Amino acid sequence: MDVFLPRSLEEALAMKAERPEAVPLAGGTDLMVELNFGRLRPPAIIDLTRAAELATHRQEDGHVFLGAGVTYAAIVNELPGFKPLVQASRSVGSPQIRHRGTVGGNLGTASPAGDALPVLAAYDAEVVLRSQARGERSMPWHAFLMGPKKTAIAPDELIVGARWARIRGPGSFSKIGTRNAMVIAVAGLCLVIDEDHRRVNVALGSVGPTIIRATPAEEQISSAMASSGAWQDPSTAVSEQVIDEFAELVASAARPLDDVRGTAAYRRHGCRVLARRSLAWALSERRLPTWL
Ligand SMILES: Cc1cc2nc3c(=O)[nH]c(=O)nc-3n(C[C@H](O)[C@H](O)[C@H](O)COP(=O)(O)OP(=O)(O)OC[C@H]3O[C@@H](n4cnc5c(N)ncnc54)[C@H](O)[C@@H]3O)c2cc1C
Repeated sequence: MDVFLPRSLEEALAMKAERPEAVPLAGGTDLMVELNFGRLRPPAIIDLTRAAELATHRQEDGHVFLGAGVTYAAIVNELPGFKPLVQASRSVGSPQIRHRGTVGGNLGTASPAGDALPVLAAYDAEVVLRSQARGERSMPWHAFLMGPKKTAIAPDELIVGARWARIRGPGSFSKIGTRNAMVIAVAGLCLVIDEDHRRVNVALGSVGPTIIRATPAEEQISSAMASSGAWQDPSTAVSEQVIDEFAELVASAARPLDDVRGTAAYRRHGCRVLARRSLAWALSERRLPTWL
């Protein structure tokens, strides 16, 4: 096996152009597991850890760019204003995994249980890709994530990062598992309130072949808040009936399967519980905003 050690993104792209079959390695927390278990034996690996451009993040023109090589530990330390992303990052693996693992790797693996992915979906993020031959392109998260462990990346491309328009409003990421740490989610949910567009975005992980946006639930709660006047006045109560309907619609958006981690029925129930909880948190945060 050839192992390439590019010192920059440009060098990495040149190597990927020359050897499209080479597999990129970021933190290695997914890839090395595949190698160690003998499930993958690529002819070549391109280690991206020296490509400093990938480990950067920036905010410009109301947009956020998160480089593919930014680790979960860096997100927790450097991006405290992005609460749902921080909560998802904190929930990944152990400190060791969080110091190596990256959002680019989460995107590259494209597991429906990738914890960063519901957050990117709720933010309506685009995935930024680059190749030496065609330069940069970006595509919406749902076009990139084509199915379980299947993405739209071309053989000569690398994931450069994710970009989204900054959303003003409260939000959270939460997940259900058999314990609090070192657990793959049985169900995960990110809810974000977009005060400027008067929308509630809800994305689900681990309950379908890929990440799912609960669109009917988003529309129901966004319009219920419009008719009750809750968008103008955060102290306006949202009725229990509306919250129940919302939780039910979120649960019915899930497309879960029975597997070793949980039954489909339990996962759907998990979505219902997470939906109620995260909506309640967000509504109470709207009354005492900490996100301004
Ligand atoms: C013990 C343990 C616990 C874990 N717990 C969790 C958890 O709680 N939640 C969770 O979501 N995940 C968890 N994971 C999985 C893993 O840590 C994450 O998916 C992580 O985000 C992978 O990032 P990485 O940088 O290590 O990726 P790598 O393993 O380096 O790469 C993963 C895939 O992405 C590709 N890739 C990486 N970077 C790029 C790029 N820039 N361009 C193109 N392709 C790229 C690689 O080729 C590979 O196919 C766990 C893993 C372990 C071993």
